[in-house]
Amino acid sequence: MSSGFDAAVAGAATPAQLIRLSRGRLAVSDPEGARELAAAAADDPAARAEALSIIATCHRLRDEYPDALAAAQAAAELARAGADPAIEGRARSEVARVLLAAGETSEALEESTAALALAEASGTLEAVVPALAAVANVYLVMQQFDLAVQLCEHGAEVARLMGDELAEGVMLDTGACAMSALALAARADGDEEAALAYAMDSADRSRAAMLIARRLGHRRNESTAMANLAEVLAFVGDADQALRLLQSWEIDVQRDTVYTITHHLDTRGQVYLALDRHDEAIAAFARALELAESKNAALTAAEHLAEAHERNGDPGAALTAYKRFHQLYCQVASETAQRNARVAAVRMETERAKATAEQERRRADGLLRISLEDPLTGLANRRRLDDELAAGADGQTIALIDVDHFKQVNDRYSHQVGDEVLRVLAALLRTGCRGEDVAARYGGEEFAVLFRGMADDEAMEAATRLRCLVEEFPWSTVAVGLEVTVSIGVASGPDLLALADLRLYQAKRAGRNRVVGPPAPGMTGRAA
Ligand code: GH3
Ligand code: MG
Ligand code: MG
Repeated sequence: MSSGFDAAVAGAATPAQLIRLSRGRLAVSDPEGARELAAAAADDPAARAEALSIIATCHRLRDEYPDALAAAQAAAELARAGADPAIEGRARSEVARVLLAAGETSEALEESTAALALAEASGTLEAVVPALAAVANVYLVMQQFDLAVQLCEHGAEVARLMGDELAEGVMLDTGACAMSALALAARADGDEEAALAYAMDSADRSRAAMLIARRLGHRRNESTAMANLAEVLAFVGDADQALRLLQSWEIDVQRDTVYTITHHLDTRGQVYLALDRHDEAIAAFARALELAESKNAALTAAEHLAEAHERNGDPGAALTAYKRFHQLYCQVASETAQRNARVAAVRMETERAKATAEQERRRADGLLRISLEDPLTGLANRRRLDDELAAGADGQTIALIDVDHFKQVNDRYSHQVGDEVLRVLAALLRTGCRGEDVAARYGGEEFAVLFRGMADDEAMEAATRLRCLVEEFPWSTVAVGLEVTVSIGVASGPDLLALADLRLYQAKRAGRNRVVGPPAPGMTGRAA
């Protein structure tokens, strides 16, 4: 896709212009062109961090995760050294996206949370959107679809405010994915009414995302949104309309990437299958298999082709396709393992460098700076929480949160795993409450969230959501077999801390993993 034209431009333009041009290439789904322009800008020290961040995105879009991670982490380090929180936030959003793609969910959660905090603190809205997108994608993987939807709505709103249509479309599309996941879950629960409502909502979002991408000429995003829309239409029983929609898309081998084409063909095949048009389904999957460059795309195509042959009553052809599937599966599994090992190596290397730099910084800062931040988790510390409590006496509700049997986590796993649990918890608390609430580390394995302007029942609901978020987190990604729950005491009014502490103790005594709050009218106690 990149051309001599870009090379000529690269020679004449200033670094800032190159960055703009490079983002322009990304906006029309040309990562290769974007990478070349960013690489030219990277020679300039002032533009280097931003250029590396773009290069990281380009690598990720091409599934080159170790390179993407190395570039994003280098960008984050440079931006941090240059005290540029907006660029650091962007870079760390990219780090989070790569970690997520490589299956490192808990690290991705922490990294995206840190990115969001940096972006918000920088006051640069442009940096907030990618951070929100990163957090939203983590929640999609964590199957916290409601939260993902909320984050996407917030992100789309910010993008709209800035007039960034590309980002708005991406946030709409991600929200659509979360909505269709909610639809699937509702149908599995037998709640067909809710399933249809979620599906309609998802269709609206995909349609809006599709139109934006079309207007911008972003073929990849347009095709992705269209595929989502077609899937939802088939889900609500309108496969005919889904097929018409997909048939309106003309594959353009000059402009479309292999990913776009194979993804489109796969969706088409699924819709043909839903319509029992087996021959056409087989043709679509076979063509996708033939075109697939990435093994993952070929894997999907082979699996679907086998299913289509089976549905068509041709076990011989199905077996051949299954064998191909199995062969690809083995290759993908071993390549993924190798790639993830490389990602882990890159990560460790930078972690070490970062720790040393941090030590240096601390020494330089000395004891003069009274920190309001907890060093382990990056949350507000107790001092900051006390300040907040003192500043706004009215309309505050506090949730005191204590990890259940945390001593056992340290004993059974290790202190390092214990620390990691605290960091993940901090990220869950920060992203699981509203921006105006304050999440703090209260001490050891105790946390607090200060809610503002909430009625007691709303605060109970919010605290219960946090409890569930912790219970449902895939802790086995931190350590095999690990499970973590928290007990929560909620209180408002004068003496809220003492009261919350008392209720936390009640929650522990009542069996842990529960919330105890203000008695609801007509009751003497309340657990949720
Ligand atoms: P309960 O359900 O009653 O709360 O049981 P528990 O084991 O969580 O409670 P306890 O207060 O007995 O133990 C808290 C443990 O938390 C003890 C301490 O070693 C550990 N801890 C405190 N701060 C840290 C920390 O920063 N890192 C790690 N890894 N452990 C910590
Ligand atoms: Mg405790
Ligand atoms: Mg505890």
